[in-house]
Amino acid sequence: MKDISSTLKNFSELIESEVKRIERMKEAEEFTNFKELEKIIIGIAPGDGIGPIIIEQARRVLNLLLEEEIKAGKVELREIEGLTIENRAAKLQSVPEEVLAEIKKCHVLLKGPTTTPRATDPWPNLPSANATLRRELDLFANVRPMSMPEKGIDWTFYRENIEGAYIWGSKGIQVDENLAIDFVVETAIGSERIARAAFEFAKNNGKTNVTVVTKANIVKLTDGNLIKACKKVAEEYPEITLEERFVDVTAAKLSDMEFSKDLQVFVLPNLYGDIITDIAAELQGGLGTAGAANIGAKYAIFEAIHGSAPFLINNNRGEYADPSSVLRGTAMLLSHIGYQAQSEKLTRTLDICGIEERKIVITSQRENASTAEYGDYVIETIKKL
Ligand code: NAD
Repeated sequence: MKDISSTLKNFSELIESEVKRIERMKEAEEFTNFKELEKIIIGIAPGDGIGPIIIEQARRVLNLLLEEEIKAGKVELREIEGLTIENRAAKLQSVPEEVLAEIKKCHVLLKGPTTTPRATDPWPNLPSANATLRRELDLFANVRPMSMPEKGIDWTFYRENIEGAYIWGSKGIQVDENLAIDFVVETAIGSERIARAAFEFAKNNGKTNVTVVTKANIVKLTDGNLIKACKKVAEEYPEITLEERFVDVTAAKLSDMEFSKDLQVFVLPNLYGDIITDIAAELQGGLGTAGAANIGAKYAIFEAIHGSAPFLINNNRGEYADPSSVLRGTAMLLSHIGYQAQSEKLTRTLDICGIEERKIVITSQRENASTAEYGDYVIETIKKL
């Protein structure tokens, strides 16, 4: 057995960094109260690949739905430049400092997908811009609504967004050629705040149950503590029931409506949340049909759930990308900053255009609508409501 003193030193450094993070979490700011702000600044960062093409439609929609507020100076749409793979590669930073500083001057950010280089890509091996933004802005809740009205499904997923298997994801220890160790991190503060966010949402939206999804029979500490945190928070919400499910059963049975249809709000650790929300998005109709929010106490980012779609760009079909997912994210943004009526109008419009009426159809194929044509259809429909 090799000398493990350097391994132990690595481990103790990781624990020390985590203790410091917990101290910072204890000092976390109050939640932003949008009603008290004189002006709400919405940053818009188009991102990579199809990002600028689909974000253009979101910008048009925001300009229309918030026309009066923008004119009155109550809302500003502010372009954030430089969150592009070209700039990030040139600066060798996953989110260049000056870009992060500009993002921090906004209250919320509407973000296009950002490319994370893979080993075969021509770009330097940068960490994901999303992971960096989540940590820098302490965006602890990844929120994804999924609805299938025809099946009676209306789910909202609260995935813990910082901790779990992700926070030390690139800090695993290869002890020797035979032994590798990765880590899963859970903090009581982290678990309680994701649980509270889910219960608050349930309370404010008339939901009656929250389900915590774990593998606590095997992953006893980190998953077990998340259940404990949910039970503790649940005591403050006597009108909402808390259920426990295992992640393997949930993955296998999510499409079984007898199993799933009465479930409303979910709390999941980071890794299971990543997987289960993608399964749910597929059930709902694919990656184009869902939006996502990354929410912290002070900041929040709204986006599509898909990536920059290099396949479409490389095949000259970027102009046919479906903007529905980023528009669903835009509806979540409007609701988050207190413009509930505008948010509902946009959600209603997307249901009409994409599910009910389908006067023109977008499939990312040239024979169907382009992104801009579909954007026209969305704008016309909003104007009619
Ligand atoms: P992807 O989501 O970009 O593409 C998956 C498939 O869906 C492809 O076939 C693509 O053509 C299609 N697709 C995606 N969005 C579409 C749209 N709006 N309309 C029509 N078709 C669409 O996944 P990927 O190829 O694995 O990732 C590409 C890049 O995006 C990677 O660098 C990845 O790291 C990044 N990514 C970013 C985010 C984000 O910023 N939130 C999320 C996921 C992936």
